[in-house]
Amino acid sequence: MKTTLRTDISIKELCKGFEYNASEAKGLFGLSGKLTIQPEYQRNYIYADGKRDVAVIQSILKGYPLGIIYFNKTAKNKFEVLDGQQRITSIGRFLAGLFAVKDENEMEQYFDGLAKNQQTLILNTKLLIYECEGEETEIKQWFKTINIVGIPLNEQELRNAVYSGPFVTKAKEKFSNTLNTNKEEWKAYVDGTANRQDFLECALDWVSRKMKAKDKDKIDEYMSKHRTDGNIKELETYFNSVIDWVSGIFDDVESEMRGLEWGRLYETYKGKSYDHKKVAKQVKELYADPYVKSRKGVFEYILGGCKEKQLLDIRVFDEATKKAVYTKQTMAADKKGISNCPLCAKGTNANKTKKYSLAEMDADHVTAWSKGGATTLTNCEMLCKTHNRSKGNK
Ligand SMILES: [Zn+2]
Repeated sequence: MKTTLRTDISIKELCKGFEYNASEAKGLFGLSGKLTIQPEYQRNYIYADGKRDVAVIQSILKGYPLGIIYFNKTAKNKFEVLDGQQRITSIGRFLAGLFAVKDENEMEQYFDGLAKNQQTLILNTKLLIYECEGEETEIKQWFKTINIVGIPLNEQELRNAVYSGPFVTKAKEKFSNTLNTNKEEWKAYVDGTANRQDFLECALDWVSRKMKAKDKDKIDEYMSKHRTDGNIKELETYFNSVIDWVSGIFDDVESEMRGLEWGRLYETYKGKSYDHKKVAKQVKELYADPYVKSRKGVFEYILGGCKEKQLLDIRVFDEATKKAVYTKQTMAADKKGISNCPLCAKGTNANKTKKYSLAEMDADHVTAWSKGGATTLTNCEMLCKTHNRSKGNK
């Protein structure tokens, strides 16, 4: 069986001569009559539910990939849709004015009512199409196989296909090359494998941070903008700067470093200077601290000057400890006729003698964790919520 990847067919060409048969609920033809959209053996059009058909159009408007479409080449210039008939029929029906989608102002718009640039965007969108050629039994057998055991393309693999060109070729040579010896160093900071395009996706994610697009779209936007570039200088330089920066600050490679948002951290902290020996000592201490629950947070905590304790997810007092301390504290307070919140008891207002329920109080470290205080019974004190909050902020 022969397969050919086509990335040159636009929606405009695909939907030329599109017909929809309402009584049979089938999209009939496309590609100026060369394409049979729903051959006999295919099920009927089921996307006309105001959700899935609308989602297809909204994906196109947002520039999201629509996934792969498979054509079966039955004769010279004759094709049948093997997979993708629901998507194609949705597009054809939208262009024919058979349903509407909501625009950014939540107004229902038919194709004709869309702004001109949106119409053009839809018509010029190119789809990812595999043309398969071979014996029918062979093709159907193969199609079953890919659908059952096949590994679907991941997002970056799809993007590489969608934005194929000199930029992708060069970028893959560098980032998706399993023989590249640099990848051993990259693996310390980036999660995944070269094969499945994880390094490339990470490099693109970092360099595209400055794009204005929403997080999800920025890689697509970057690839689209650089699609015809003959070099990957910016991508490569930026990626190396981030890696060099991290490895220059943290002497030891810890497994929790893998997959952290180094691109964001680089942009936030690249202007600060760090003493790598002191940093190494801090990492060791925090790793040895049994109260630090999030080791992943250690690196950002240090980069930020050891201020944002919440990054470390410090172990909190358990319920049994809280209850024991609460009971002891409350009994002692009752004897003296003062509030069971020691800070309220020292005050001068009506709360001086207020008795709080357990639910109205929170546990606090007598000696703060940051000053070496342990999360144990003897270092636990119950405070009313107001006092606990104000103490926590200091
Ligand atoms: Zn209080």
